[in-house]
Amino acid sequence: MTKDIATPLRTKEILAKHGFHLKKSLGQNFLIDTNILTNIVDASGVDHETGVIEIGPGIGALTEHLARRAKKVVAIEIDQRLLPVLEDTLSPYENTTVVHSDVLKADLEQLLIDHFSDVKQVKVVANLPYYVTTPILMRFLESKINVQSLTVMIQAEVAERIAAEPGTKEYGALSIAAQYYAVAERTMIVPASVFIPQPRVDSAVLHLEVREEPAAKVKDESYFFKVFHASFANRRKTILNNLTHNLGTKEEKPAIVEALEEAGIDPKRRGETLSIQEFALLSDALYTRLK
Ligand code: SAM
Repeated sequence: MTKDIATPLRTKEILAKHGFHLKKSLGQNFLIDTNILTNIVDASGVDHETGVIEIGPGIGALTEHLARRAKKVVAIEIDQRLLPVLEDTLSPYENTTVVHSDVLKADLEQLLIDHFSDVKQVKVVANLPYYVTTPILMRFLESKINVQSLTVMIQAEVAERIAAEPGTKEYGALSIAAQYYAVAERTMIVPASVFIPQPRVDSAVLHLEVREEPAAKVKDESYFFKVFHASFANRRKTILNNLTHNLGTKEEKPAIVEALEEAGIDPKRRGETLSIQEFALLSDALYTRLK
């Protein structure tokens, strides 16, 4: 087996050899701990029949660990300066392909057709750039492309919010948006010391197992999203007040009360106490009255 990229010494050697300077604006915090990498790949459940999409390979620390276990890895990297570095570090791994692109703009459907028509399942695994965590996760979840799971290192606080249960202070619109599409589990907390440079926050690994069907059936998906976003606009307000100010109008207040009654929800409750199923019932009841 070739020497691991993710040791402090080898990482420094690679950066020096290529004269590479890390760019903070691209969220470049590279992993330098092989145990953490093993744990991430374990949590992802990747095996030799899996195709992996990696977002932001950096100098290839996670990519090589994935390549050792997966059928193939396609790594999407935005920073052109890393292409020659990756060509060098990933040369022992023939089952890896680097795509130079912004993951938020890449044609994911085409990527699956081009690279993964011969694999049993596709999984996303990444140590994400923290400045775009949520847009990247939501892009994959909303795109409806056939991805089985996403296992990602992200800011610990964001992982807690995504995996939060109703009634907790972390629970909010982001929890519902993600859990509508996937079962979320925060698997481990990772200290800042395993990165160079060290981020100012703790990190965590989040595993999202994509559901076959969304967690609730609703008449109109985009309206459902509007309803729960409006319900959390001001966390101190009741659900009735939030909906009256952020979804409907003062004149529509009686119709909103009626919809809450139909859904069996006390108008004095706060958004953070409602489950996804309750939001779905509420959304359908509001849809027929306010739309
Ligand atoms: N995977 C490497 C590791 O674990 O050491 C690097 C992870 S680093 C936190 C994030 C990586 O994502 C960087 O290589 C950065 O250049 C890349 N990146 C940032 N924004 C991106 C985007 N929009 N699309 C694709 N890659 C991006």
